[in-house]
Amino acid sequence: MSKHLQNITKPLLKWFHDNKRDLPWRKDQTPYHVWISEIMLQQTRIEAVKSHYIDFIHELPDIKSLSLVPEDQLLKLWEGLGYYSRARNLKKSAEMIMQEYNGEFPSSYEQLRKLPGIGEYTAGAIASICFHEKVTAIDGNVLRIIARVTGSKKNVLLPEMKRDVDKMLTLILPDEPGIFNEALMELGETICLPNGTPKCTICPLQEECIAYRDHLTSEIPVRIKKVKRRKEERTVLLLLTPDNKIAIEKRPEKGLLSGMYQFPNFDGFGSDETIKTWLQQYGLNVTGISFLKDSKHVFTHIDWYMKGYLVTISEVCDHFLWVSQEELFNQYALPTAFQTFLKLMLKE
Ligand code: SF4
Repeated sequence: MSKHLQNITKPLLKWFHDNKRDLPWRKDQTPYHVWISEIMLQQTRIEAVKSHYIDFIHELPDIKSLSLVPEDQLLKLWEGLGYYSRARNLKKSAEMIMQEYNGEFPSSYEQLRKLPGIGEYTAGAIASICFHEKVTAIDGNVLRIIARVTGSKKNVLLPEMKRDVDKMLTLILPDEPGIFNEALMELGETICLPNGTPKCTICPLQEECIAYRDHLTSEIPVRIKKVKRRKEERTVLLLLTPDNKIAIEKRPEKGLLSGMYQFPNFDGFGSDETIKTWLQQYGLNVTGISFLKDSKHVFTHIDWYMKGYLVTISEVCDHFLWVSQEELFNQYALPTAFQTFLKLMLKE
């Protein structure tokens, strides 16, 4: 193991003790609270998570209430956080905990890994923070820090790199593994930032860090992606009736944004004529079309390029659900990809 790593524990823990942020989910370390916050924080900015977390815990204060929540209410609570399968997995896990563990949160890493949506990182975080099990919790933040401290130019996206880091960290885990894991996450989120902008001058690991010593912070971590992204073009229609009702529809139960609501839309970029013809199939009579804006939304492997139109129509049809703006805001989970058009329309 790198001798540099052996010396990080003490300065890291001291720094965390003196600098840790006051975050809503740090008020206690109950497994339910740590679990919800960790799942929300996956691929979502901390600022966006804060208010969602407080509302979520207020509405669903425990495992039982989560296991019983109707899906529409759950998705509404998750609105804006993206990656909605996370919310569904929370509910599935809560149901499993109620049935198989009598409502008691499972307390070992191995048991936690069997719950839907709980991967190695989240299981490690919950087991170490809540149950003091000596396991690591390795996410992109931790990989970046360890790659920089050890000066490793291996691709951090490869499973081998994660295995190596796990082995090295396991050897230096202190008696309070949860605090150590949290301290590494915190350092990655506030000091050892990605994209060549780490705050090395105030970093507690500076003396041990090879990337800092050798001016390699913009080169490490090395990230080489294999995945090819797919591009999709869509025409999105905000259909408005004379009494200001808006058309929405439920997305299919499987696949991207499953079970959420959307504005009517179709593949490709359509002209005014194409839009009229497309709406005729539902018996809708168009009285006006105006272009709203171009928008791009990035999913894990797909980029949506969208053109949004405000379309006024004379009467409703049965194919769509017609709702007021108030109902849309309060009752239906509308993915961020579509909200951008709604905001624009409301300004008009
Ligand atoms: S010294 Fe800089 S690069 Fe090294 S761990 Fe600290 S912040 Fe990261």
